[in-house]
Amino acid sequence: QAKVAGKSCYRFYSRVMDQAVERRVRMEQDLRGAWERGELSLAYQPLYRLSDGKLVGAEALLRWRHPEHGQVSPALFVDVAEQSGLIEAIGPQVLRAACMDARGWQRDLPGAQGLFVSVNVSPRQLRAGDLAATTEAVLRESGLAPQHLHIELTETAVIADEARVSSVLARLRNSGVKVWLDDFGTGFSGLSHLRRVPVDGVKIDRSFIADVLRDPDDLALTTAIIAMAHSLGIQVVAEGVEKEGQYAILRERGCDMAQGYWLGHPVANAEFKRLLA
Ligand code: C2E
Ligand code: MG
Ligand code: MG
Ligand code: MG
Repeated sequence: QAKVAGKSCYRFYSRVMDQAVERRVRMEQDLRGAWERGELSLAYQPLYRLSDGKLVGAEALLRWRHPEHGQVSPALFVDVAEQSGLIEAIGPQVLRAACMDARGWQRDLPGAQGLFVSVNVSPRQLRAGDLAATTEAVLRESGLAPQHLHIELTETAVIADEARVSSVLARLRNSGVKVWLDDFGTGFSGLSHLRRVPVDGVKIDRSFIADVLRDPDDLALTTAIIAMAHSLGIQVVAEGVEKEGQYAILRERGCDMAQGYWLGHPVANAEFKRLLA
């Protein structure tokens, strides 16, 4: 009896697993050439400075409109692009498009000269080794000033090969590009890491911001991150601000910038430009 159950159990799981693998393989095939076919685009989510409430920049977020399935979540397809290596082709396109768009805001809209664009860079792109060169080429081509390009890395990307990553980051930062640690607080390294990895700031993960009004521990952690970051001379962004009360308390605690649905959703470039105008 147990043997039979075990066997069917095994079959069930292997089938479920096959389906998951199959889905990923199909997604990878569909993703190949998606940029060239115009299925990928960037959405921009505004970032606000808390001291004066000014819109100071935007995060570029990749969107995929699949011809049959419609919008696919980046949480799914970015991971597939990362695992398959496709990100090494898509990443530079994202970087280039974001810099071109940001240069466009600055050129076309009065008062937008100081805006920055913040681009997510995956662990694989960081390991590929040509990130600094690619970035320099894209900045030259777009005419965007280096300080108006921000790059967001995750802790896991940075931990993997600390010495090499640090030298890439040092080169980028020497050229004037700003480097942020994304989803901060979710990894294992935490603040001790900031002593060795050269970054300009951290983005507190939205899982901390979500309960900042209800959970005293999350508020204490958020406040501690802000205080320690500032004592190290780096800046802090809060992600996932969905309520006015969260915005108010972050401002009161001295957080530098914020983004979230309460402040603005990610929107296509044309709509972002209307928002700026
Ligand atoms: P992330 O870099 O942490 O980006 C923030 C995510 O939070 C975005 O999800 C954004 O739409 C979402 N968000 C913003 N405000 C709120 C809010 O108030 N509430 C909630 N619940 N969510 C909010 P999205 O666009 O689905 O992207 C998911 C992740 O995919 C990103 O997380 C990033 O890790 C990755 N990603 C997106 N675009 C790119 C890209 O161009 N390159 C790479 N390597 N990764 C990307
Ligand atoms: Mg990000
Ligand atoms: Mg994040
Ligand atoms: Mg996140």
